Amino acid sequence: MNINSNSPPIASNLFFSISAICCPHCGEISSQACENLETRVPCPICEYEFIYVDAFLHHFKNNAGIFIDPIHAIPIAPGYTVGGEIQVIPDDVQLISYGITYNRPPELFFFNRKIQPVRDLVLENIYVAALSISTDNFILLSRTFDPVKATPRQRIRWMSVGEIGEQEKPIWINILQNAADLILKSEDRAGLVMLQIAFDFFLDSLLGQLGLTENNVKAATRSWKISDRRAKIRMIEGQIGKLPEDLTLKLVDLAEQRNRIVHGKKSKTDSPDLTSAEAFQVIIETITSYNDLKYAAQRDKVLVEEAI
Ligand SMILES: [Zn+2]
Repeated sequence: MNINSNSPPIASNLFFSISAICCPHCGEISSQACENLETRVPCPICEYEFIYVDAFLHHFKNNAGIFIDPIHAIPIAPGYTVGGEIQVIPDDVQLISYGITYNRPPELFFFNRKIQPVRDLVLENIYVAALSISTDNFILLSRTFDPVKATPRQRIRWMSVGEIGEQEKPIWINILQNAADLILKSEDRAGLVMLQIAFDFFLDSLLGQLGLTENNVKAATRSWKISDRRAKIRMIEGQIGKLPEDLTLKLVDLAEQRNRIVHGKKSKTDSPDLTSAEAFQVIIETITSYNDLKYAAQRDKVLVEEAI
């Protein structure tokens, strides 16, 4: 089997960097690259300093479904989209290069006539789909429905979305990405459990930023006689303020749902199970809400110090 490498010529690829971040203070959206996602960067408008990954997530606060979209999920880290056009050769395979190398095979999709993203296409007398997707290229397969019938030349548009480059990330982002990957594979129960692990690691990271140590948590757990997680949340909220009550209740429901999955425990409430996609939205909303509280508390502290 011959593979046509980018033949006939394709239109030049379009590159877009997914590096938009949103200042948690003034809401300014800017685009910045960053090698270590835990670096503090200043907002170009208000000059307020924030942690890069906080501003990256803040940008998607009300659109967290984009990380687990079944067709065009974006990575939970800055990445790249590449798009191009191909003239399809009937009953052939074509090798299409992205022009960049992704860290792992990207999400690849095509656009149908209504410009909706789709995994495969049915065109005039021809079916088109990706046979394989690798980090540098993909192989396009086309098959005619009726080989005797004339098939017109047809162009299609494709797009790939993924992460590139070496970036240092906090561990909870890696685990959150693992949870998103499980949800995308419809591994609902494993995805739900992984989300809770990601959230616990996020709490540890937030405790560290607030200057609280593991020993502080152990002492609090012993003195309050509550679980590690409850102690961590109480300590965090003691410094930066409480989450909205409905979000706290959703977190309790999710923790119970996780216990039912892992230990088969009976629920104390009659709350309905969330899907893993709904749980993902709750965790992103919680993380970004805690970050908002953290920055608000930091601003208040600065104002008090300036006033003294
Ligand atoms: Zn700003």
